[in-house]
Amino acid sequence: MDTTDTQPARRTYDVVVIGGGPVGENVADRAAAAGLSAVIVERDLLGGECSYWACEPSKALLRPVVARADALRVPGLDRAVAGPLDAAAVLAHRDAMAAYWKDEDQVAWLESVGVDLVRGHGRLAGPRTVAVRTPEGDGVELTARHAVAVCTGTGAAVPDLPGLDAVRPWTSREATTADAVPGRLVVVGGGVVAVEMATAWQGLGSRVTMLVRGEGGLLRGMEPFAGDLVADHLREAGAELRFGASVASVTRTDGEVRVTLADGAELVADEILFATGRTPQTLDVGLETVGLTPGDWLHVDDDCRVSAVAGDWLYAVGDVNNRALLTHQGKYQARIAGAAIAARARGEAIDGTTWGAHTATADTVAVPQVVFTHPEIATVGLTAREAERTGRRVTVVDHDLSRLAGTHQYAVGYRGRARMIVDEDRGTVVGATFAGPGVAELLHSATVAVTGATPIDRLWHAVPAFPTISEVWLRLLESYRDRPVPVKAG
Ligand SMILES: Cc1cc2nc3c(=O)[nH]c(=O)nc-3n(C[C@H](O)[C@H](O)[C@H](O)COP(=O)(O)OP(=O)(O)OC[C@H]3O[C@@H](n4cnc5c(N)ncnc54)[C@H](O)[C@@H]3O)c2cc1C
Repeated sequence: MDTTDTQPARRTYDVVVIGGGPVGENVADRAAAAGLSAVIVERDLLGGECSYWACEPSKALLRPVVARADALRVPGLDRAVAGPLDAAAVLAHRDAMAAYWKDEDQVAWLESVGVDLVRGHGRLAGPRTVAVRTPEGDGVELTARHAVAVCTGTGAAVPDLPGLDAVRPWTSREATTADAVPGRLVVVGGGVVAVEMATAWQGLGSRVTMLVRGEGGLLRGMEPFAGDLVADHLREAGAELRFGASVASVTRTDGEVRVTLADGAELVADEILFATGRTPQTLDVGLETVGLTPGDWLHVDDDCRVSAVAGDWLYAVGDVNNRALLTHQGKYQARIAGAAIAARARGEAIDGTTWGAHTATADTVAVPQVVFTHPEIATVGLTAREAERTGRRVTVVDHDLSRLAGTHQYAVGYRGRARMIVDEDRGTVVGATFAGPGVAELLHSATVAVTGATPIDRLWHAVPAFPTISEVWLRLLESYRDRPVPVKAG
């Protein structure tokens, strides 16, 4: 601890971080690694949404569901997994993966890297100052010599429907922590959280009905074949998918949830999950004391400094800046912001060049994402639609994943698809999507290719092992080489 002030209720550090999720932890860690003193203010559990109510518990619920779906397509194993999942064992495993909602291990880690922790709700109280209200009701004032980083993340956004509170709907928090399998579950939404939770709970024994607004399919924003494959598998698993379905009202009577749709249709369920987006946790962080608007996303420069606040001291890192709402991407931003804070503290120049030490370039060029459904979806960089929108000259190359020795080995009746987007002017891959069982671990190869801007001609020499699903690279590159090239009139 840095004890410049004698009063324990007033302390000065080089860096003050509000929010101890994965991102805040990494900002503080990077600052400490650079020799700066740092403190994290956390009002709940150190480790944030990801550890206790998002990534960790959701993947613990999904892993047995996906493993079983895979095993059902492996001869000799299929009969062994034909019965239902042991839901109680899955939920118990989920509890362990969420560390039983205790943060001692993360507190011990924080101590080991020399970062202090103040428990309580933090608010900006003017430039470089954070006022903390502790659970005991005491006040602590923290002053930052160099930087304050707001890393307060996001919460679930639910629609403004009359009487919804009384229905006690599930958000992502209840969907990842429920201790019983609902008989009937309505899932509202068609994005990543919606499809992952629909997959998990359908696999654990719920009868899931998905209500998706519009006719654009699932996982909009990704390549359309990704959402189509997930939809097919969800239906085969027994889920009902209703597109063009918009919720008009919800009530709960005698424990049952009654949902009325805009077209007058009615549904009855045991629980309803709203997976309808995220909202920044900035309503009560004192933004007004530095000229910002409470409740807004915090827009930042490429080194995660809040653009609208002068003085190079206020950073917003992770979900709260709305650049890429993913743990790994937020942690990447934390490494960049931590390095920028340390450089400024030492009076060094900032390297703001593309791919420079203080520039989160990957946020705009190569964000990897895995959707842990059956089948898995793995994406990085641009989709064909996005490439078209940016006006690039690209070639889109597709391959049917069922036509690979690796996928034949993986599962009988394997279905999947891969797409590679090649920038014709640069001769590099600028986007890739893989949709199929077991493709998640393929993603980093694509991320390295996109980030490194590896020339297609050099990728030709990166030989995938036989018989792995990675051989899709070879097929994509062959299709690209053999593509019809317009012949000039003689
Ligand atoms: C169901 C679900 C599944 C997901 N799965 C994945 C996945 O598989 N992979 C992936 O990469 N991403 C996943 N995500 C996204 C991931 O959870 C977020 O990107 C990540 O948690 C963001 O980290 P963060 O540190 O920015 O914010 P958070 O994890 O939200 O942490 C913010 C912290 O700030 C604290 N805080 C807020 N306000 C204050 C305050 N005023 N004072 C003190 N403390 C405060 C909060 O208590 C919290 O601990 C998932 C999200 C959901 C909802």
